[in-house]
Amino acid sequence: MMISRVGQVISEGKVAFFEREVAAPKKDEVIIRIKASALCGSDLHTYKAAHPTVPLPATIGHEFSGDIAALGSTVHHLSIGQRVTAEPCEACGVCEACLKGEYGSCDKLSFIYRRGDGAMADYITVKAASVFPLPGHMSYEAGALVEPTAVAVHAVRRADVRLGENVLVIGAGAIGLITAALCKRMGAHEVIVTDMDPFRLEMAKILGATRTVDPGNGEDLSETVRLATGGRGVDKSFECVGRESTFVQAVTSLRKQGLATVVGIFEKPQITFCVMPLINNELRIQGSQGYCWDFPTALQMAAEIGVERLATHFFDLEDLKSALDTALDRSSRSIKVLLKP
Ligand SMILES: [Zn+2]
Ligand SMILES: [Zn+2]
Repeated sequence: MMISRVGQVISEGKVAFFEREVAAPKKDEVIIRIKASALCGSDLHTYKAAHPTVPLPATIGHEFSGDIAALGSTVHHLSIGQRVTAEPCEACGVCEACLKGEYGSCDKLSFIYRRGDGAMADYITVKAASVFPLPGHMSYEAGALVEPTAVAVHAVRRADVRLGENVLVIGAGAIGLITAALCKRMGAHEVIVTDMDPFRLEMAKILGATRTVDPGNGEDLSETVRLATGGRGVDKSFECVGRESTFVQAVTSLRKQGLATVVGIFEKPQITFCVMPLINNELRIQGSQGYCWDFPTALQMAAEIGVERLATHFFDLEDLKSALDTALDRSSRSIKVLLKP
């Protein structure tokens, strides 16, 4: 019998564990013994009781890797002990989007953790179709970061970044950093990254940013964009923070006919901005949510970029609260905080 400790956010700033017996897998399911589980910005929003769509109490954690502990009766393409990660979203399979293969736009798209099976736990049960074996050399740490890599892959694909384009990435959390690294790989000329954390900006440079801007240190984003682009503005921008001020930067930094892609989660979704540049400069703004057929590429990219470099802090599962507090503490020099159940 397998017992799993499952971490939960009870109320603002409070976590608790419950123990549960892991049910035998249904025929198309796989049980994974979690080896590494990363905290995501969305988990932090939940911990602050500020996630726009997740009410408390809530289990958290959806970026993980581990070993297969049990297989459903019809799962023949995987084996016990195999090192894997998994796509943590669930689609209905019968809505129009699903039938067209666009499961990322499923009417009932949800995440495993939203129904009480989070990855801040010893075990997690997933559909076999969502499971991806880790390439032989990939660490569990990197495996846990394939999911945020997939988010960045999806955003960069949606933005259709092209050879020679100039790009601005606002926010150097894991998604912003990986987005910057991917834009450089796509052939972007300038990749400007802005953030208030000098440590994260150093990482941005290592991953391929051509220029970094720290407004907290008196550096001026619009001036940097002007210098980098001959005054025209960037072709593509990525908003990876989720605030009104950074949304406005993403729009106002664009060249004529530029495209802003919004990835951040807005704790305050209602914002105000001047729409006239949208019309005068024929700008486009789009959102990017999660992923859809992006995991295979994300596995390759996670290996090529060396995403385990973003894993800065490690905690035991029972220290979930310290892990969350560390991730929220701007002075901790953390990028990705991982739990090792
Ligand atoms: Zn995430
Ligand atoms: Zn669906």
